[in-house]
Amino acid sequence: MSFDVDLFVIGGGSGGVRAARIAASEGKARVALAEEYRMGGTCVIRGCVPKKLMVYASAFPGQIADARAYGWHVVAGGFDWPQFRTALETELDRLERAYRGGLTTAGVTIHDCRATVVDPHTVQLATGETVTTKHILIATGGAPFVPDVPGADLALTSNDIFKLDALPSSILIVGGGYIASEFACVLNGLGVRVTQYYRGAQILRGFDDEARGHVADAMRASGIDIHCGTDVLRMDRAADGIRVEATNGTDRTFGAVLYATGRRPNSAGLGLEPLGVAFGRQGEIVVDGHSQTAVPSIYAVGDVTDRISLTPVAIREGHAFADTVFKGTPRMADHDLVASAVFTQPELGTIGLTEEAARAQEPIEVYVASFRPMQTLFAGRGDRALFKLVVSQASRKVLGCHIVGPGAGEMIQMVAIAIKMGATKEDFDRTCAVHPTIAEELVTMKNPVRRG
Ligand code: NDP
Repeated sequence: MSFDVDLFVIGGGSGGVRAARIAASEGKARVALAEEYRMGGTCVIRGCVPKKLMVYASAFPGQIADARAYGWHVVAGGFDWPQFRTALETELDRLERAYRGGLTTAGVTIHDCRATVVDPHTVQLATGETVTTKHILIATGGAPFVPDVPGADLALTSNDIFKLDALPSSILIVGGGYIASEFACVLNGLGVRVTQYYRGAQILRGFDDEARGHVADAMRASGIDIHCGTDVLRMDRAADGIRVEATNGTDRTFGAVLYATGRRPNSAGLGLEPLGVAFGRQGEIVVDGHSQTAVPSIYAVGDVTDRISLTPVAIREGHAFADTVFKGTPRMADHDLVASAVFTQPELGTIGLTEEAARAQEPIEVYVASFRPMQTLFAGRGDRALFKLVVSQASRKVLGCHIVGPGAGEMIQMVAIAIKMGATKEDFDRTCAVHPTIAEELVTMKNPVRRG
């Protein structure tokens, strides 16, 4: 049977774009891709990239204060949000063009509209056109989830932050995960009074307990008003903002409320249900190790599959899919030992097992260094960095590494190579330090602080 194309990709984010490009350029396939919003997806348009640029913007007040301590006569002045937002838009436009250019150079046909699946080999475009295809790749990502509390429609999500006309004078951030904690720090740095409500006992659940405690303490010290064990009961519009009743008995008004209470896979309404594609409890598309769904011609990669919702993972899943289906080199994306960073201030970089998870698995040794880095100590700041290695007593392998401090995201990328190679504590020890750096702590921790 002949088809219009070999591959139709639905979704122009990290995973879909990589798969389309590799299938078309290296796999010599005829490829079409549909994107209903802007090319680049969550990461480029309303996630990692604009967030990281906001992280940079928000760090300047601290850096300017430090510069004064180093003898510079500088004053911060005010932050011009509209100027920043315009520059941000320009940068996102550039990136979007680059993504589009990469696809067209590879020979991918782009459809700027929504696409849905009609049958295992047919896609329907919002323009009314249908396209027949040998394979379909669903790479539609995820979307912010806001729980059903009274007044939920008054809340912003991370999608809205980059488009605000003006920054509010105060904000309540609900949630304790990556997005809530990162935006708490960003907005605090930009001069917004930030309160954070998190329903659990400590923010950043799932990360190493000591590391997340360290981050939470530093966030509080920087002025963020974190309330754990607290959730919103209801919200109403008030003359001066949004009135929030909370489970801790308070009734407060904030300039804005941001819900960062997780994301859900964008899988509904694509026409997949009647075809026999299987879904998980959160709506994630169930796939095997090759990203294949229960319908053999339909594959899915990235956040819509809710495996590890990180851009580099989606890219690898998309690439592995294209290698497998179009290049005759079958392989699975590797989901083991994926490092990540939370861009709070201070940053948290992490790979492997937390101390708690490792201890549940086997006897371990824990090495910890907590100290005030030279650069900020000189400026009179009390910030502490934390380095932690979790080591197997039996194999001596480093099972986990957790870093809190400036550059933690950059450092964990390097540590990840060693840990992925199976480095032991003794391999770290025989590596000579680079002095004076804060990263040298990784190779100078001599005695375990805990065993067992
Ligand atoms: P997370 O899953 O990290 O955090 C969601 C938070 O919302 C948790 O604190 C959770 O609480 C809380 N929550 C969930 N449901 C409710 C509810 N009904 N009421 C109150 N609180 C609730 O999701 P994020 O949205 O922060 O991020 C989504 C994903 O995006 C991340 O998992 C990550 O994979 C990715 N991401 C990665 C980044 C990076 O690499 N730097 C940055 C941003 C996002 P509880 O802990 O109790 O479940």
